[in-house]
Amino acid sequence: MPELAEVEYFRKRWDPGLGSRIDRVLTNPKARIYRDIPAVAVQRGLGGRKLLGSATHGKQMLFEFSDGAWLGLHLGMTGKLVFETPVYEPVKSDHLVLETADGKLVFSDYRMFGKLTLDLTDHGGPPRWWCDLPPRTLDKGFTKKAHTTFVRRFPKTPLKTLLLDQRGFPGIGNWMADEICWRLQIPPATRSGELTDKQLDAVWKITRQVSRDALRVIGDDWNTPPNSWLFNHRWKDGGNCPRRGCGTGLERADLRGRTTCWCPQCQA
Ligand SMILES: [Zn+2]
Repeated sequence: MPELAEVEYFRKRWDPGLGSRIDRVLTNPKARIYRDIPAVAVQRGLGGRKLLGSATHGKQMLFEFSDGAWLGLHLGMTGKLVFETPVYEPVKSDHLVLETADGKLVFSDYRMFGKLTLDLTDHGGPPRWWCDLPPRTLDKGFTKKAHTTFVRRFPKTPLKTLLLDQRGFPGIGNWMADEICWRLQIPPATRSGELTDKQLDAVWKITRQVSRDALRVIGDDWNTPPNSWLFNHRWKDGGNCPRRGCGTGLERADLRGRTTCWCPQCQA
């Protein structure tokens, strides 16, 4: 599932369409992403407008169009954005295709857990729901104090599980949460209420560090993270802890419904 850096990567795929007018909007009306808003409303809402800008917020994306139209996209499990040539022929999993003179902006999602919203605002700013999202992990508003207050609300929740809570950690997903716990050298199942103040500060710091590292490596070109991260070692069975001087075999188990990987030596 795309996490904040992968979402940022996909957002940029539509950059070639910035400033272009949407000449035609193709939709797959039966797709589940139109469960909240009919495809025809999206066609009417975006046709003829220009793509002006875009932003990400955790796992959410927002695209601004001229005259106050805002397209929100959530990639779900398998959604992706691509820019295709003008002669590209859409396939079944392409649920939304915005045609410009230079190419096609495509939202495809073969498992259809993605979500789409369209807001037409007349106040010149983004829609309410966007403004109400909690601070991003690299925002100024993600302060140590706000972070501590949030974590202390859930003393019984395992740290790893809490890191996946989008109300407190927007954009953190499964691999990032494992990476954060591993860098902290804290067992992922540690109940949040057992964390010391010093450890809580470290959670805040490392969450920001992993967010920055992920954006740097994946957000632009989707490069492979270095072998010094847990990332390259966590995906399949086997694998050893990449920490210098450790090399212990990694453990994997289900934690509150999510596969979790950790080093039993460093995170004991
Ligand atoms: Zn280790």
